[in-house]
Amino acid sequence: MDTLLKTPNKLQFLHPLHGYSEKLSHFSASDKLQNHVVRFGSKKKPVLRASSSALLELVPEFKKENLDFELPLYDSTKGTVVDLVVVGGGPAGLAVAQQVSEAGLSVCAIDPNPRLIWPNNYGVWVDEFEAMDLLDCLDKTWSGAVVYIDDKTKKDLDRPYGRVNRKLLKSKMLQKCISNGVKFHQAKVIKVIHEESKSMLICNDGVTVQATVVLDATGFSRCLVQYDKPYNPGYQVAYGILAEVEEHPFDVDKMLFMDWRDSHLENDLKLKERNSKIPTFLYAMPFSSTKIFLEETSLVARPGLRMDDIQDRMVARLKHLGINVKSIEEDEQCVIPMGGPLPVLPQRVVGIGGTAGMVHPSTGYMVARTLAAAPIVANAIVQYLGSDRGLLGDEVSARVWKDLWPIERRRQREFFCFGMDVLLKLDLPGTRRFFDAFFNLEPHYWHGFLSSRLYLPELFTFGLSLFSYASNTSRLEIMAKGTLPLVNMVNNLIQDKE
Ligand SMILES: Cc1cc2nc3c(=O)[nH]c(=O)nc-3n(C[C@H](O)[C@H](O)[C@H](O)COP(=O)(O)OP(=O)(O)OC[C@H]3O[C@@H](n4cnc5c(N)ncnc54)[C@H](O)[C@@H]3O)c2cc1C
Repeated sequence: MDTLLKTPNKLQFLHPLHGYSEKLSHFSASDKLQNHVVRFGSKKKPVLRASSSALLELVPEFKKENLDFELPLYDSTKGTVVDLVVVGGGPAGLAVAQQVSEAGLSVCAIDPNPRLIWPNNYGVWVDEFEAMDLLDCLDKTWSGAVVYIDDKTKKDLDRPYGRVNRKLLKSKMLQKCISNGVKFHQAKVIKVIHEESKSMLICNDGVTVQATVVLDATGFSRCLVQYDKPYNPGYQVAYGILAEVEEHPFDVDKMLFMDWRDSHLENDLKLKERNSKIPTFLYAMPFSSTKIFLEETSLVARPGLRMDDIQDRMVARLKHLGINVKSIEEDEQCVIPMGGPLPVLPQRVVGIGGTAGMVHPSTGYMVARTLAAAPIVANAIVQYLGSDRGLLGDEVSARVWKDLWPIERRRQREFFCFGMDVLLKLDLPGTRRFFDAFFNLEPHYWHGFLSSRLYLPELFTFGLSLFSYASNTSRLEIMAKGTLPLVNMVNNLIQDKE
């Protein structure tokens, strides 16, 4: 069965090359995602607007950088059925491939560019990576973070933050996969056909790979995993640059988690009005006094904000902050679908990461949560595939899905989707009030919320605590804008049974 054709609103149109490849000039549903100006990976330069043209002129042509590994290749002529095929070599897919192969099972990993260094700039809380013994995979850490609510209110967050060394993390995972005997196939999967005891994956080079279990780890492409409900996520959209600057005003020991100030828009009333309705904030990781990663971010909107709008806001902000960009090492155009329905549970193809609804619906973060979930998926595959159990394809998959999305995780996600629905309704003043209260919470609550460590009923205590810290205006606003999402959440919680 061609599952590819069945997935609605597929995001590979947005991300054909792993999140790099298309510059979205606008992606409202009415545009059907076709209105894109291609820049990354192509020689075409974008149509430049006066406001952001000088900045975008500094963006270098995208260079594909591959890791220097000799990958053992899958031999399609033998017709062997591997235990597991992993489709997609992002953090999610490689983490599972590594762990399942470690247990002695045969694994084939398929990706169009298996040696390509991951393109995204991942930021994580240090404690999340520490818990997984991955501190060596952070190339820079900051002792804390800063949030500007407005010109008068600044919050110091006593929680270290880090930037993932994606080259090192991928190298480590590939190295382990190779030594565990994982075989690689460089191609794109276009179709899957299931039989009772095995599945056949048809690739775009004509090769067929046979496997007992299929793991879809294709990120937001959602290549094989099926959804049966309308796909209606919110979108986090951001434009980021890793830049050499003359100087910047930020403390190099702290990362800037959110800067909601809007004084840079005083001279552009149209931008100011747009920002007041759907606000963006600056996220920044200062590496030194002259090297900094700057990202103008729309936390969540439906439809997502236009990329050119975000770039214009960033240019105005940098000018106001006196940041003169001398050169740009790399840039990223970030589009993260957030919330929306979970995939059909269970289904024959197993999923992890972006394809399996694992993005935090209120924040867009995912990498730490996915890496922490990889052992759960890997252990389930190893355990249920064990020969003495003799389970067939569908049964193995059903058990794996159950372990990945147990009822308490589904309830947690429902609460986070409620959070997203409230955020979607807040304008700039409302957003400021929300985060003012949020970062006044006990660290246990805001840490736990951001890192998916709180479960119902603790999440309800979190909600009440947030309410008690909120100003009266904010309380009224949360009641007015949060009642319908709250009712929806309660309905969904009641309907979702074990
Ligand atoms: C620009 C950007 C920045 C982000 N920053 C952060 C962050 O700072 N912190 C955080 O926690 N999260 C972040 N995220 C969210 C999330 O963590 C990432 O999207 C993460 O890369 C998802 O990992 P993944 O392995 O699920 O998918 P991906 O990393 O997208 O990997 C999917 C892989 O599947 C391959 N593939 C796709 N289709 C096929 C096919 N048909 N056949 C075979 N292979 C296929 C792709 O080539 C790719 O290699 C960011 C996302 C983006 C887009």
